[in-house]
Amino acid sequence: MRERTFVAPSKIAEKPFVLVKTYTARDMSLLLDRSRTLQQRAEALIPGGVDSPVRAFRSVGGDPPFVDRAEGAYLFDVDGNRYIDYFGSWGPMILGHAHPAVTEAVKTAAEKGTSFGASTAAEAELAALVMQCVPSIEKLRFVSSGTEAVMSAIRVARAFTNRNRIVKFEGCYHGHSDALLVKAGSGVATLGIPGSAGIPVETTQFTTAIRYNDLSELEAVFARHKGEIACVILEPVVGNAGTILPEPGFLEGVREICTREGALLIFDEVMTGFRVSLGGAQQLYGITPDMTTLGKIIGGGLPVGAFGARAEIMDLLAPLGPVYQAGTLSGNPLAMAAGIATLKQLIAGGEALYEQLAEATSRIAHGVAQEAKKSGIPLVLAGTGSMFTWFFQDGHVIDFERASRSDTQRFGRFHRGMLERGVWLPPSQFEAAFVSSQHGDVEVEATIQAAREVFDSL
Ligand code: PMP
Repeated sequence: MRERTFVAPSKIAEKPFVLVKTYTARDMSLLLDRSRTLQQRAEALIPGGVDSPVRAFRSVGGDPPFVDRAEGAYLFDVDGNRYIDYFGSWGPMILGHAHPAVTEAVKTAAEKGTSFGASTAAEAELAALVMQCVPSIEKLRFVSSGTEAVMSAIRVARAFTNRNRIVKFEGCYHGHSDALLVKAGSGVATLGIPGSAGIPVETTQFTTAIRYNDLSELEAVFARHKGEIACVILEPVVGNAGTILPEPGFLEGVREICTREGALLIFDEVMTGFRVSLGGAQQLYGITPDMTTLGKIIGGGLPVGAFGARAEIMDLLAPLGPVYQAGTLSGNPLAMAAGIATLKQLIAGGEALYEQLAEATSRIAHGVAQEAKKSGIPLVLAGTGSMFTWFFQDGHVIDFERASRSDTQRFGRFHRGMLERGVWLPPSQFEAAFVSSQHGDVEVEATIQAAREVFDSL
């Protein structure tokens, strides 16, 4: 509970906003005049008006609000509307927005200069904090995004094994680098594009994508490509097809097969790292991967990614070894400061904080699912810790094909209805929702109330 004290709810309530509960089923005209004007201007200058496609709301319809500022569990748009935030900048904001410890750390760092292109103490400090929580990592390197982290990890894995082929799973997203944009879930799934134009088939010829939670497919790929597979990469809990949990025995099986076949197992924990537990999914499930990629939370909302592994693997990187990898802004001092401040809060909060996150998440996720049930709307819930998805269907979702059976039209209407009632969900059926340490009783109740009204109107 101590984590919740830094923004007193009463302080937020004093600020001007459109009250969540003033919307009724009949009065839903969310005023987005300024947002619409800004969107039109942006569209003239930036493709789709956005710097990352899903932000454009194409799959849910309507106009995306333009954000003015954020605090705690809330986003405030340029038209004066307030929203409970359930996408948390797509994962990083586990402490809520503008956490004073993070803001202070970034300010202090900025006053000393924003980038040097030379080493600072902060890089090893953040690396040590990461390794304290994720002991499978003996050495790591920072980059500026999850995409870069994965791209670089793959290069190292190929060099270490002296093999080319990579195996991934359908619906898992590992950033937008060429070789990994194969059956990639997330925005690619939302837009219904099988991969992307502009990627030569030669670039993806060494990528094999198979069904998640299916060990027999993995065995078959290894049999077909004996001695050729450098690595198997997966999201140990999928977040980019909506949330999909590993079935009992799946991760253990993948681990065993990789060890037997001499391929490296890469856990892409860009989303799950410090999210599903302090030690990520590898701690939650007790599986030790060979390599780990991280991002999102470890940057505290600034651009950071990282990849790490045993020292013998990481020491292949230049300047020690033959694998080239670099970055002008890698280990940026502001980003490191935000990451250090965030991880220190999470480490101090420990088990109690993760329990609090899971409890709030469970109440929201189950509370809304109950409302759907009362209204006779098919909806299944999947999640762990503080990430979850409401799939608009009644099947058990264990892979991307089953996630795709969801009623995305209905999800779109649900999304819009919730937005109109001051609840901003991730704008796609195929994205995970996130809860922060600043989501408390008020937000839980308001969210369930909003869902009740929306389900009634569906
Ligand atoms: N891997 C996973 C599991 C992700 O969720 C993401 C981003 N959603 C990425 C990689 C790519 O990270 P970024 O957007 O920072 O490039």
